[in-house]
Amino acid sequence: MSFPVIKKSLFYLIAILLNYSLCWCQIKNTSPIPSSSRQMILVITNSFKASNGFLFRFERDNANADWEKSGDKIPVIVGKNGLAWGIGLHKLYTTNTPIKREGDRKSPAGIFTLSSVFGYSPVEKMGSLKIPYIHVTDILECIDDVNSKYYNSFVNRGKVENVDWHSSEKMLLSGIWYELGVVVDHNKNPIKKGAGSCIFLHNWAGSADSTSGCTAMAPSDMKDIIYWLDASKNPILVQLTRQLFINYKKSWELPELREGKIADQARDLRKTLREAKFSKASQGLSKFFKEFKNYEICYKVLGAMVKLRCNRVCKDSGGPPFCKIRKCCQKKGIDGCWECDEYETCEKLDFLKPIHEDAHIKNLRQIRKLGTEAFINGKRYW
Ligand code: SF4
Repeated sequence: MSFPVIKKSLFYLIAILLNYSLCWCQIKNTSPIPSSSRQMILVITNSFKASNGFLFRFERDNANADWEKSGDKIPVIVGKNGLAWGIGLHKLYTTNTPIKREGDRKSPAGIFTLSSVFGYSPVEKMGSLKIPYIHVTDILECIDDVNSKYYNSFVNRGKVENVDWHSSEKMLLSGIWYELGVVVDHNKNPIKKGAGSCIFLHNWAGSADSTSGCTAMAPSDMKDIIYWLDASKNPILVQLTRQLFINYKKSWELPELREGKIADQARDLRKTLREAKFSKASQGLSKFFKEFKNYEICYKVLGAMVKLRCNRVCKDSGGPPFCKIRKCCQKKGIDGCWECDEYETCEKLDFLKPIHEDAHIKNLRQIRKLGTEAFINGKRYW
């Protein structure tokens, strides 16, 4: 082969490889969640009409890392009339699902950036916030009048020459609702008249409270979230019904909601130990208590407990890599043992008997009968 021919072949090979890598990138970037986002607040309700649900927090190290749960799940209330598609980072869906409108008392569903927080205290009393802060004063208003040029914006009434609105949210309410809150960047870029305004996460006065389209929670939970949010991690809110979560989980690369108490607690303890630089402290303590000589092993054991969590189904490499069950399911190309006709008598599952007796078999029967999502939210035998 002459040199020019080799050169030409090489050129084609590089072009093909480049084309493949571009395709891969395009496939990888189908999620509307920005790759720069490393903090996610996920709110799930049972239906478009439900006015309460749960909030989960997640963090990840980079765009290719798995989302890891942070903290416990938090009970929340959403709009009195439930959810409707809002305007955010996702596409606005116009199927037979509701669309958010001004005054409909519905919270927006979709994906939204969270760029600032607010509260009644002056900023110097707020301590170590990691996100821009808006001090709520008696002249701060959020404009919900669709005919105002300030629609869906914060305005200091005393600083505006021509007040052109007849309706607004007075942010310094007499109650605790806006004592602390987060601005949800809904319908912001550009602002569409009548598509909904002044959407926040904020305190509730109790779980029987209701909102006009915000998401509210206990003040202690709100405070935790405010100090957890970090603008450098480009936090987002994902708010969905459970069915929408199932529908978009794969294409939006949403996190797993599976819970694992031991794995969660082990993860939290590792984090606290790291923040307290306990590794160094243990060296000093080991001179007085010999047990601390084993601190690093203890830390590793906690790490192994974190890995015990099954973040995905067996087929998608959930659970620990050495798991024989996972390998078997992968070989059979099934999500888990509930799809296998041999599970009632399978010897590979026998190691669970001393701990769970026959509870694992009962659980598999339940999953087979109800499906995984219904099982996760329903009765389990351990
Ligand atoms: S039940 Fe047994 S044979 Fe069937 S997938 Fe599970 S481990 Fe494999």
